[in-house]
Amino acid sequence: MGPGPPYVSFVHLREVQIHPTPLERFEPLIGPERAGALYAAAELARRALHGRVVFIVNSTEMGGGVAEMLQPLLAYSRGAGINARWFVIRGDEDFFRITKRLHNRFHGALGDGGPLGERERATYEAVLHENALELAALIEPRDVVLLHDPQTAGLIPLLRRSGALVVWRSHVGTEQWNEPVHSAWSFIRPYIEQAATVILTRSEYAPDWLRHYSVIPPSIDPFSVKNEPLDEQTIRSILCRVGILRGKPEVPAIYSHRDGTPGRIDHCADLVRAGPPPPSDVPLVVQVSRWDRLKDMLGVMHGFARRAATLGEAHLALVGPNVSGVSDDPEGSQVLDECTAAWRELPHAVRQRIQLVCLPMIDRDENAAIVNALQRHAAVVVQKSLAEGFGLTVAEAMWKARPTIGSAVGGIVEQIVEGESGLLLDPPTDVDAFGAALERLLSDREFAERLGRNAHQRVLEHFIGSRHLIQYAKLFSSLESPHPVQDTAPAPGP
Ligand code: UDP
Repeated sequence: MGPGPPYVSFVHLREVQIHPTPLERFEPLIGPERAGALYAAAELARRALHGRVVFIVNSTEMGGGVAEMLQPLLAYSRGAGINARWFVIRGDEDFFRITKRLHNRFHGALGDGGPLGERERATYEAVLHENALELAALIEPRDVVLLHDPQTAGLIPLLRRSGALVVWRSHVGTEQWNEPVHSAWSFIRPYIEQAATVILTRSEYAPDWLRHYSVIPPSIDPFSVKNEPLDEQTIRSILCRVGILRGKPEVPAIYSHRDGTPGRIDHCADLVRAGPPPPSDVPLVVQVSRWDRLKDMLGVMHGFARRAATLGEAHLALVGPNVSGVSDDPEGSQVLDECTAAWRELPHAVRQRIQLVCLPMIDRDENAAIVNALQRHAAVVVQKSLAEGFGLTVAEAMWKARPTIGSAVGGIVEQIVEGESGLLLDPPTDVDAFGAALERLLSDREFAERLGRNAHQRVLEHFIGSRHLIQYAKLFSSLESPHPVQDTAPAPGP
């Protein structure tokens, strides 16, 4: 532990409420055979974890793929009789500036270009020390602690002292190793070498010195507010209600909360747009992402703008969270400002066809329902990231049978099979190729629909939560054996 200043007044671990969900929910979707494997894995885990708690720890409850996944995976785990609890650490601005620096470097980018030296380490460790003190009070020997991402890696040595089996999971990484990537791994190496094991999204992300790791790709929950089916009228009504589409809601803009209680869209989006919203029959191209440079919202805007004349009447919506809503992402407002400035520079006729949308983050389910409606309404969904650990937005769009264009980077290449279940953009910086892919999908609707159908099937086979839960169950059940499950194969089959 470095000395560092005291951060006590900033630190309060928060426990997130979870509503248990029965595993049986999957069966109609995956069939009896796959469901049988899921029930067997749950039984294995129940026996291995009897009387023990699984503590899940990350740095935000809302915004981004990790938070998105934790909610359903914990809900199913609790539904299966596993005592899984989710805690969110708290840090201050300095802490999240450092962890964002790490995040960028894990993806090969320098981010703010700042250092990762002893001073940064001391700040990082001091914040985590305060969080660890609170958490350690709850932990008993042989409990399992699953820490997510670089923000929590420094907790490993501290929590091991409680006798817990501490596992670290990274959702970040790149196959293109450069100096920033090595520096990020070096920063956290002293911590993660003390983990019982490590989980990665792809084996390409493993540094050569990492001896014990498993590969578990992310997944979506088909039944979540983000992914559940919505009828056409409700989709349009939600999007009219928040201000993205023209017109009055035809039916109430409602959805079901995860616990089954009714919800209604009460908050509007913050919009940057010239003129009225597009009507619902105009094709809408959509990218939904955090406002992060590596998501390349600017590249999407420029690719669309350059080709606008050949894209018929299509409009573009660049959609992200309200920038004050994602507590662990300090760059959001800068990136949104950059996008707004670039949008102002566009010719008026193009500007009228592009809107920047910040979604309300007051209620997680309300936000998810709006994203669901947007992805379902989209004529084409785009994820033009410059780097991507996995890219859950791609699986979400594919599940909704949307024709999808994704960059050929990171986990996106595990999801999209080029020309079969979507289009891959290689290299992701090729703005003209991006425009051409958009034109192709908007003009050849038959091809686009075929890609969408295949995409749905691919997600059903590889990327829904039941597969993910089975992998966790096997890993956790084997943690105390001398050789915990070391699954380093690429995305497993159904
Ligand atoms: N997301 C959201 N609301 C927003 C923007 C993003 O719910 O306004 C969600 C998106 O639907 C997806 C997640 O955030 O579930 C982003 O995950 P991804 O893996 O694509 O990227 P990350 O943010 O983790 O880098």
